[in-house]
Amino acid sequence: MFDRSRRNLAYWFAASMGGILLLFAGVGYGLIVQAQLRNFDDQLYRRSRAVSGLQPAIPGVMQTIPNDLTYVRWYNRDRQRIKYIGSPGATYLVGTPGYETIEGLRQLTLPVQRQNQIVGYLQVAVPLTPLQQSLEQVRFFLLIGVPTAIALIGITGWILGGVAMQPSRRAYAQLQRFTADASHELRAPIAAVLSNAQVGLMPPEDLQEQHDRLEKIVEIAKSMSALVTNLLWLARHEELDRTKFQTVDLVQLIRGLDYPNDRAFTLSLPDHPVQIEADPELIRQAIFNLLSNAFKYTPDEGTVRLELLTKQTAIVRVIDTGMGIPAEDLPHIFDRFYRVDTARSKQTGGFGLGLAIVQQIVQAHQGQLTVTSQPGSGSTFQIELPLKAPRNKG
Ligand code: ADP
Repeated sequence: MFDRSRRNLAYWFAASMGGILLLFAGVGYGLIVQAQLRNFDDQLYRRSRAVSGLQPAIPGVMQTIPNDLTYVRWYNRDRQRIKYIGSPGATYLVGTPGYETIEGLRQLTLPVQRQNQIVGYLQVAVPLTPLQQSLEQVRFFLLIGVPTAIALIGITGWILGGVAMQPSRRAYAQLQRFTADASHELRAPIAAVLSNAQVGLMPPEDLQEQHDRLEKIVEIAKSMSALVTNLLWLARHEELDRTKFQTVDLVQLIRGLDYPNDRAFTLSLPDHPVQIEADPELIRQAIFNLLSNAFKYTPDEGTVRLELLTKQTAIVRVIDTGMGIPAEDLPHIFDRFYRVDTARSKQTGGFGLGLAIVQQIVQAHQGQLTVTSQPGSGSTFQIELPLKAPRNKG
């Protein structure tokens, strides 16, 4: 698909630019022809002036044709030819004075005046060969130059097309992978719902078993609904609506979150407000996702701690003493659908989208999400967000 578009782009680029180039080359060639012909005619005129001073009435004075002229003819006032050198032509002058091209010759006919009276006509001609040769050179140059330029334009179009298509190609590949992953994730629970429902439709042997199956269906449907909600969230928030950004005090926002009271949890907040420019709903969601992971992947006897501190930035840390994450998984855990241990995540109902959502939120706020973890002893997730710029006083 992309290669075809790229080819089309290169083709249309070459065709349109080539068309413009041809047009310019055509106009340019026309102008060159005109200019060279004018120049040629000027020279012819100058040569004819030199000849017009000669006395035609004395026969035998001029043996050779002057100034490389092909012929010179003199006519009297009544247009009768009185003398010629070179080819004789007609004995009577027809046509009007001026320039004319006749069989490879450029001919000039001039009235000869004395005291404002036409006393005769002078006709001279030269071969057009020098002009034709020079124009042939121009044509040869255009014949080689124009197709080469069009080929270069085509190659440039192809290269530019490739560069221009890079982001779309990447986005498309990402979208394809995302769709494939999403379908793959939905396939297993749908199959489970189907098999449970099919067995449930059979005449019941054991009412408790039927009840369990229905419960299983409800449970799977709930987790599918959570998955779809998360998928929709990721798709909708690809481009963030910055108009929803407002000044948010992180201290207040964190205080307002719900925390489980059956777990060992500590909260450490500064005693001054920490202001950022953000969409509060999204920041709440990001912190909530980190906290719920911390609780999910920390055994009951472990602890979870949430810290807020400020340096040049606002720093939110979620520290747990849970199972931790192996080093080889750390670079991937922010990817969509990535789970460290599928069995472990399935158990906790995760699809591997929670951290991808946090990452997307943090990046949209020009922040940074980092993690350090030690398998067996716990993990620390850190969100760093730019502080609201202090307002200039005065
Ligand atoms: P899930 O919905 O599966 O939890 P997440 O994107 O939130 O997906 O997390 C991705 C993976 O990172 C999880 O499968 C889990 O294995 C691992 N993980 C995330 N947070 C923690 C944590 N606090 N402790 C240990 N592992 C974690």
